[in-house]
Amino acid sequence: MATDPQDEALSLGLDIGGTKVHGALVSFGGPQPLVRFTARRPTAHGVSGVVDSAAAVVAELLAAAGLTIDRLGAVGVGVPGIVDPVTAEVSHAVNLGIEGSAPLGALLAERLGVEVRVDNDLNVAALGAARVMAGDEPADLAYLALGTGVAAGLVLDGRVRRGASGAAGEIGHVPVVPDGRACPCGQRGCLEQYASGSALDAAWPSRTGRPAPVELLEAASGGDPVAVAVLDEFAAAVASAVRLLVLTCDMRQVVLGGGVSALGEPLLRAVRAALEEQAAASPFLRAIGLAERVTLAPAEVPLAAVGAALLGGGPVGGAEPGADPLRGAAPATPSMNVTTEESC
Ligand SMILES: [Zn+2]
Repeated sequence: MATDPQDEALSLGLDIGGTKVHGALVSFGGPQPLVRFTARRPTAHGVSGVVDSAAAVVAELLAAAGLTIDRLGAVGVGVPGIVDPVTAEVSHAVNLGIEGSAPLGALLAERLGVEVRVDNDLNVAALGAARVMAGDEPADLAYLALGTGVAAGLVLDGRVRRGASGAAGEIGHVPVVPDGRACPCGQRGCLEQYASGSALDAAWPSRTGRPAPVELLEAASGGDPVAVAVLDEFAAAVASAVRLLVLTCDMRQVVLGGGVSALGEPLLRAVRAALEEQAAASPFLRAIGLAERVTLAPAEVPLAAVGAALLGGGPVGGAEPGADPLRGAAPATPSMNVTTEESC
């Protein structure tokens, strides 16, 4: 039977995306993270819109749990943009309609009356994936987001790796096709031009208004040779991204996330087959076992919101900004056992 929310230590995380704010109240007190309540609202754009949307989701979660804000030590937030994790200042968050930079953490803290910790959305997704999927060992894990673009969040030796300027994991702009398709970044042949949801939309435009990847998968399953070729090219590009991550950092796991990962097992099978094919002529690649390292983000777990909740820490012993939430107050976790108990 569920514990009364009044009696347990809960952490609150927000995953603020371009269209939705997804929030979760999570208990890290047991052997597995337990998502006790979730809430989702549309994202209003601009700085004040984002603060309003985030505050509304926090209020909804607290009301659902019958809690007040003073039960939380801090709120953790993931946003698509460049984030200074110490000052919680956000810049280049164009999907949120934020021009220039904004002190999002300070503004939200003022609104909520509690400390707010902010990081990039892929970093918190990687953090959540590491907590949920990596087991007891310090994780070497990449969360590879296949959405409008392609980028990865990296957790190395159990810690988020941001890089010298916060650009670690921006593998979507590694050129993989000489003189290939032009990329808005100014280069040609970038991985993003072949392995993203946008690339799939361009190669197989939706015929019926449903998501293009879904229609592509149906057509490929039905034996349409053009659809099969498009899916194979896409899977090969995603496999190249996985290979890049594993060969650069010897990642133990590469978790496929982002909108396209909703294709599920058929996508995973296609990517694994492409990895096997790429390794066929290379005893070196076969020895590394690329195909076994790639997995799917669990559809039922809001990994980014869970990671944001980890960032925020619990009411007791929350991690300091830049500290290591995976090794904070929360105990080690067996793999793949997060439970989504309740949603609202
Ligand atoms: Zn590019």
